[in-house]
Amino acid sequence: MFRPEIIVDAHIHMMTHKRTRGGIRWVKRNFAFDHVFSEEVTEEELIDNLNLAGVNAFFNYFYPLQPQESQVLNAWQREFALRNPRAIPFASLHAGDDNKGEIIRKALEEDNLAGFKFHPYAQGFRIDDPAMMEVYRELQERGCPVVFHTGFAGFFGLPSVKGGLKSILKQFPGLTVVAAHLLYQDVPFKEIFSWLDEYPGLYLDATNVFAEMGSPVGREGEEITRLLQEYSAKVIFGSDFPLAYAPLEALYNQAVEYCATQEVADNIFWRSAVKMLSAGGCGRNIRGLSNLQAVVDG
Ligand SMILES: [Zn+2]
Repeated sequence: MFRPEIIVDAHIHMMTHKRTRGGIRWVKRNFAFDHVFSEEVTEEELIDNLNLAGVNAFFNYFYPLQPQESQVLNAWQREFALRNPRAIPFASLHAGDDNKGEIIRKALEEDNLAGFKFHPYAQGFRIDDPAMMEVYRELQERGCPVVFHTGFAGFFGLPSVKGGLKSILKQFPGLTVVAAHLLYQDVPFKEIFSWLDEYPGLYLDATNVFAEMGSPVGREGEEITRLLQEYSAKVIFGSDFPLAYAPLEALYNQAVEYCATQEVADNIFWRSAVKMLSAGGCGRNIRGLSNLQAVVDG
């Protein structure tokens, strides 16, 4: 077993109490997980959990469900990161917002956020919605990463994001794009290899994927182990905490089973995430990131 030296959990949803409660209710409605947090769990309790699991830093995602709430949420992310120096906060916005340029400017220049995260299914828009093109153009110019929820279209009962994502990768070749959940069930693993060769800005986030395959043995398990061996520099990993399907330690242990070398473990657990953020220079002033950049450079 190869264990990572550092853990950057690249997929966390720390949110306001109201939205955390809503998220936990959603999980309880949809899944039979037995470890789910109480709806009254506090931010301190959740942060204690991350600390106990040895998390050195984490990407934090919190996206608006309605137009006009983006700036409030992005400002909350800034405050949250000031309270929690291990946080690497990501902004978001809604396809229905009419002041997208200003939201982006404020999030990156004033709120000091690291990039943007979008959940096309939960936020009710298509990745290639014409209203989003100015957003991708602007983020490409600024060297800021964009994270999209992908995969599990069947669960959401909505069409796959595959075509939309491909069109964005083609139209914005300089944009750093993270496909969260590794396009699982949208694109077969075999085909993902050629996506990675064709689109140098593409990264994959393996959150929730290992649970789906049960074990590294078997066709999918072997394919993803090989994908990680060849492309771990392009793969990041996170937990979806506190809405995850298992406690953090269990999730991290499960991911370790798919790491065939120390390099794979270090890449997917932290190095790829730090390099991805550092490449565009967008996360320059983020405390959760600066210590880790020193480790990578050293
Ligand atoms: Zn998530």
